[in-house]
Amino acid sequence: MNEMKKNSNIKCTVAQCRNNMVTEDYCCLDCIHVGTHEADPTVPECVDCNSFVRRTDGIMD
Ligand code: SF4
Repeated sequence: MNEMKKNSNIKCTVAQCRNNMVTEDYCCLDCIHVGTHEADPTVPECVDCNSFVRRTDGIMD
């Protein structure tokens, strides 16, 4: 079983992501890759966490 270690520097509420701590709103990766799907991003909705991995262990289902 993988040890999930909270990264206090990366706050995240995306519980559907395998890298999320879930019990607290933090990411467990050492670093994440943030990008955009827009040509000219203007608001927060334009940017994405590209380190997202869909949770498949059923915890959130
Ligand atoms: S990888 Fe991105 S979406 Fe997933 S928990 Fe970390 S910050 Fe959140």
